[in-house]
Amino acid sequence: MQTKFTEEQLRDPDNFANEKVFKKCVHCGMCNATCPTHQLLGDELDGPRGRIYLIKDMLENNRKPTEKVVKHIDRCLSCYSCMTTCPAGVNYMHIIDHGKKYIEKNYQRSFFDKLIRYFLSITLPNTKVFRLSSLLVKLSKPFKFLMPSKIKDMIELMPTNFPKKSLPIKEVYKSSAKKRIARVALLTGCVQKEISPQINEATIRLLNRHGVEVVVPKKNSLLWIFKSSSWKRGGCSSRF
Ligand code: SF4
Ligand code: SF4
Repeated sequence: MQTKFTEEQLRDPDNFANEKVFKKCVHCGMCNATCPTHQLLGDELDGPRGRIYLIKDMLENNRKPTEKVVKHIDRCLSCYSCMTTCPAGVNYMHIIDHGKKYIEKNYQRSFFDKLIRYFLSITLPNTKVFRLSSLLVKLSKPFKFLMPSKIKDMIELMPTNFPKKSLPIKEVYKSSAKKRIARVALLTGCVQKEISPQINEATIRLLNRHGVEVVVPKKNSLLWIFKSSSWKRGGCSSRF
């Protein structure tokens, strides 16, 4: 991808690093095929290639983020599924992180948006609060016609039925194979472990079958893992 950063802009280490990443992109669009938001919404700007263009345009032209740009960047889940299919090895993670940081610095969100984001930040990572809020959502469904459209959308998307927890709370899952080939820490996630616990179960089974011991760290040991392991790009597990 061609870039138009000036020499002065490239003195900023973030721009310097971003330019290197932008240059690697060959516009092939293969990343769009594995992007969940692109699959769901079918809009080029809701895929990684479109988002790369939006961020590049903002940074090169020192442009203030518009509501439209913010909407498409906000929709990125930072799941990094796109990175697994990029043939050019584009470090999308670096670009989107920088893009989001740029938006937080240069875009004034409305009070309502801030409120929703705060609500999500306290609800999603906390299992009990998440389950309680889903119960409240269930009760409020008949009155959703009275609510603003954003809240209506959230009510529609909020799961109200949870599977029974079948993953036992265990810290170490030993491999059933004769020889242990590796040991990994599995971060079980926040919402996913509540609404689809079978994903973690299947991951553990698969790893165990292939000789990998799985450690599910307690909350307070997560910091230690981040400090002591080399964080693999885009994954929810890290080797230590
Ligand atoms: S990080 Fe996930 S949601 Fe974001 S562009 Fe890549 S695949 Fe799509
Ligand atoms: S797959 Fe990689 S090279 Fe192709 S458009 Fe996406 S980021 Fe660019």
